[in-house]
Parts: sequence; structure tokens; C-alpha cells
Amino acid sequence: MNITGVMIQYYVACKRELWFFANQINMNYDNEDINIGKLIHEKSYSRESKDVNLGEVAFDFVRKGKNSTIFEVKKSSRLEEPVRYQLYYYLWYVKQLGKEMKGVIVYPKEKKREELELTPEIEARIEWIIEDIKKIVSMPLPPPVKVMPYCKRCTYYELCMV
Ligand code: SF4
Repeated sequence: MNITGVMIQYYVACKRELWFFANQINMNYDNEDINIGKLIHEKSYSRESKDVNLGEVAFDFVRKGKNSTIFEVKKSSRLEEPVRYQLYYYLWYVKQLGKEMKGVIVYPKEKKREELELTPEIEARIEWIIEDIKKIVSMPLPPPVKVMPYCKRCTYYELCMV
């Protein structure tokens, strides 16, 4: 199974959302958040290399040089912890390929950035998450609804709240 950064993000945010996403339950809707996010991404960092694909994962962009860094650009810090783990996963992934990198999460609208580095504890947690994702995704039914503030802006809101 290909584990993507988005799957790691969903795992930390909501395991039910992860299940829907990984089992290709697509909601047909127009999500303004995604469009705004794309626009910020294009306008704010047009001079850096963007959308780097590496095996199973794709990052927002990477600055090459002595201190190679993976950047993840986000619209808001609303999902701080899930986004952190998404980036930790990328750092872990490139480390498996023999490259140690730093990570920076950038919130252009909030003029905020956060630097991340792997620790042995975080690496162990990522490895545990990967195994848990495989179990959750292969379950015949999604995990139960867990109502949280984030639900209101979730793609699957209608599916969960009816
Ligand atoms: S609406 Fe809430 S419970 Fe349902 S998938 Fe989204 S975040 Fe999870």
C-alpha cells in the first residue's frame, strides 16, 4: 500500500476521514479551502522549486543546498498537529533514502513558520502510524464518527452527520 503524506495528515486529524479517503470515497463538491490554498501556494513561493515527487510522496517544495529543506505551505495553522506529522513523514521518508533534511511549515497568510526535525521518538511514532494506517484502511467499515470542531470543514461532513 502506498502511504502518502495526506494519509498521515488524515490519520492524525481523523481516522474515519483516512478510511474514506483511502477507500476512494470521493465527495463531489467545490471546496473553496483547497482553491485558496492553491492560490497562496502559487503566489507566495513562485521562485522556489515546487511539487517535488519522490517515490510515493510529493512535497510542496524543496530548497537545495547545504541544508536541504522540505517546505510545506499551508493556508492556516488550524490543523497544526496533522500537518506536522505529514512533514515528519516526508523527513522520515527521505531519511530511508539516505538523505537527512529539515522541514519547515509555512503559513504565509499568518506570516508564521515552524521548523521541524526528526527525533528517534518521532521516527518510531511514524513507523507505528504507518502500520496502524494499513490496519485502519483495510477495515471493512470506517471507524465511528468522532465529532470535533474540524468536522464542519471536512469533505465528509454530510456523510458523517446525516
Ligand atoms: S466529518 Fe468529522 S468524523 Fe466525519 S470524517 Fe470528517 S472529521 Fe471525521
